[in-house]
Amino acid sequence: MISTKSFGVQNQRSPLGPFEIQRRDPGPNDVQIEILFCGVCHSDLHTVRNEWQGTTYPCVPGHEILGKVSRTGKDVTRFKEGDFASVGCLINSCRKCPECLAGNEQYCDQPIFTYNSVDPHLGGMTYGGYSQRIVVNEDFVLRVPENLDPASAAPLLCAGITTYSPLKHWNVRRGMKVGIVGLGGLGHMAVKLANAFGAEVVVFTTSPGKRADAIRLGAHEVVTSNNPNMMLKHLNNFDFILDTVSANHDINAYLQLLKRDATLTLVGAPQNPLPLAASSVIARRRRTAGSLIGGIRETQEMLDFCGAKEIACDIELIPIQKINEAYERMLRSDVKYRFVIDMSSL
Ligand code: NAP
Ligand code: ZN
Ligand code: ZN
Repeated sequence: MISTKSFGVQNQRSPLGPFEIQRRDPGPNDVQIEILFCGVCHSDLHTVRNEWQGTTYPCVPGHEILGKVSRTGKDVTRFKEGDFASVGCLINSCRKCPECLAGNEQYCDQPIFTYNSVDPHLGGMTYGGYSQRIVVNEDFVLRVPENLDPASAAPLLCAGITTYSPLKHWNVRRGMKVGIVGLGGLGHMAVKLANAFGAEVVVFTTSPGKRADAIRLGAHEVVTSNNPNMMLKHLNNFDFILDTVSANHDINAYLQLLKRDATLTLVGAPQNPLPLAASSVIARRRRTAGSLIGGIRETQEMLDFCGAKEIACDIELIPIQKINEAYERMLRSDVKYRFVIDMSSL
C-alpha cells in the first residue's frame, strides 16, 4: 500500500480539506501515475455535496487527471516510467457485456468510476484525482498528445469527451445549426468542437459578459437566454442542441427552437428533475436525449483529434488550497472556463 496525500470531504457539509488515503501497489497490469494536474468538474461539486444522492464519505473527487508514470506492473506494454498519462471518469468495467465489447464502457452495468465507486482491490470507495498519485489498470489509461499544454489538456478527459461523444453520435457537421446551452467547462469545449466539426454554432448563455469569449471560442452567434425576443428569433431553427447546464432551467424554451425530428441532448445533470411540456416534443416530433461521457476508445480518438486540431481547454490554474473558493465561483457561473488544480501545491 502507498500512503498518498489527497484533498476531499468527510461529509456532505464539510469543506474540502487534506487527508491521507491509500493506493494499492501496482499489480501486473497497473500503471502508477504521479498527478501533475486535475481539472475541476461540476460533477465533483454535485458529488461532494451529495446532490445526486449516493455519495459515500469520505470522498475524494477529480476525474480529469494528467500526470507522469512513476511505476509500471510487469505486464504493462503501453506505458513506461516518465511517460505522460491521463485518466478520466472510468477506471474499469466488466469488459464482457455487449456495451464493453462495443467500446461503450460508460454504459456497462458494472462500471468502476474514478471516484465514489466500490473499489474492488482495497474495499471501500475509489478516490479520485485531487491527490498525489493514482494506480490504474493500463487499459483505462489514456495518452494525451504531446503538442498540447498538459494543464490545458487535463479537462479533455471529462469536459472534452462528454461533449465530443454526443456531437459525434448525432453526426454534427457542416451545414448544421447547433445550439450550445451554458458556457462553462463542458459548454466551452462543445463550442470549440462543434466549430471544428464545421457546424454553425449558437451559444445560449445567462451571462451577457461571456459574449466576446463565446465568439473567440468559435460561436457564430450568442443569445442571452433570458431575452425572449432573441430566443423567439430562433424558433424551429436548430438541427441539434447540447444542453450543458448544471442547475434547474426551462428546457422547453430550447426544445421549441428545434426543427422537425431534431434532438436536444442533455449532458448537464441538475440535482432536480426538469419539467418537460408534452407540447414541446409533440410539435414537430422533437426528441429529448441524454449522453454520458464516452468510452475509452472514443476518448483516445477525441484526444488525438484535439491534438491534430490543437484544441485544448481555456483554464484557470489554481493551487489546491483555493478549491473551496473555486467551487463557490463555479456556482456563480464565474469560471473561465475550467479550473485546473496544480497538484504540486498539495
Ligand atoms: P460549469 O463549468 O459550472 O458550467 C455550467 C454552466 O451552466 C454555467 O457556466 C452557466 O453558463 C450555466 N448555468 C449555471 N447555472 C445556471 C442556471 N441556473 N440557469 C441557466 N444556466 C446556468 O459545469 P460543467 O463542469 O460544465 O458541468 C455542467 C453539468 O454537466 C453539470 O451538471 C455536470 O455534473 C454535468 N456533467 C455531465 C457529464 C455527463 O457525462 N453527462 C459529464 C460531466 C459533467 P452561462 O453562464 O453561460 O449561463
Ligand atoms: Zn466530469
Ligand atoms: Zn460491461
